[in-house]
Amino acid sequence: MREFDLLAHVFRQNPALPARVTIPPGDDMGAVRYGEHDVLVTVDQIADGVHVDLRSTAIARVARKAITRNLSDVAAMAALPVGAVVACALPRDFGQARARELSDAMRRVAGEFNCPLFGGDLTFWDHPLLISVTVLAEPAGVTPVTRGGARPGDVVFVTGQLGGSIHELDGYCHHLDFTPRIDLARRLAALVTLNSMIDLSDGLGRDLGHIAAMSNLAAEVDADRLPLSRAARHAATLDGQPAWRHALADGEDYELCFTVAVDQADRVPSQIDGVAVTAVGRMHACEPGAARVVVRADERRIPADDLGWEHHTS
Ligand SMILES: [Mg+2]
Repeated sequence: MREFDLLAHVFRQNPALPARVTIPPGDDMGAVRYGEHDVLVTVDQIADGVHVDLRSTAIARVARKAITRNLSDVAAMAALPVGAVVACALPRDFGQARARELSDAMRRVAGEFNCPLFGGDLTFWDHPLLISVTVLAEPAGVTPVTRGGARPGDVVFVTGQLGGSIHELDGYCHHLDFTPRIDLARRLAALVTLNSMIDLSDGLGRDLGHIAAMSNLAAEVDADRLPLSRAARHAATLDGQPAWRHALADGEDYELCFTVAVDQADRVPSQIDGVAVTAVGRMHACEPGAARVVVRADERRIPADDLGWEHHTS
């Protein structure tokens, strides 16, 4: 079964949800109204053999990714973390020392981002390690930025550099070692109105497609403008594909993609705290039957919706 087919089925149930659900399934976080306030929630899993490989990855790095993946979703809403709970299923032969190392590292990383771990559940089983992290967040004065608010003419921006996140160069492997862009999102929200935002987990081609679909628009991206990571250039030398294709399709960049009205686009700085912020394209009305995301490369216009990747379940 395809992940997106199943999610589409879930989204069809959204109209039946009570009014206190203020952000329904289909965004980086959901939200429910609690008293006067919205509480944002996200849950994500790390499975050994799917998202990480414990045979070649240190426990501390696995722990870090389990936390930071969720915090990237908090950044995507321009929210602030409140706290997290963790459910772990450990292989029976995992061992006390490694279990403690895992727990201590998750607590340490969560603490770095002011997201205390305040509960959880532990079980043992005959399968590979599975970590499920639920993070709560609060708007803290900034209206949560959803995927569905883009408008025709909006300029599309991305943070950081994209592509090749799986490759380790000089001891840095982006999909494990990235910094969730929580502070950067808050800084941006103070400078301009963010019409829509998503964090890049499945590749810009597919994730910008989510903004386009939720906003009922299309997007055009200029391949020449894509900020290429060193790892994207490295990946290009390995497989002969253009580096821009890696920037668009590799996934697990955990950077932000957001859209801003054209008359505010000049107020977006070209970098914040050393992290590049780059205009890469525009939103426009969607023609019936046309691709949601098109890449302009080598004088051609290439549909990009299917350049990203997705998980498959059997
Ligand atoms: Mg996300």
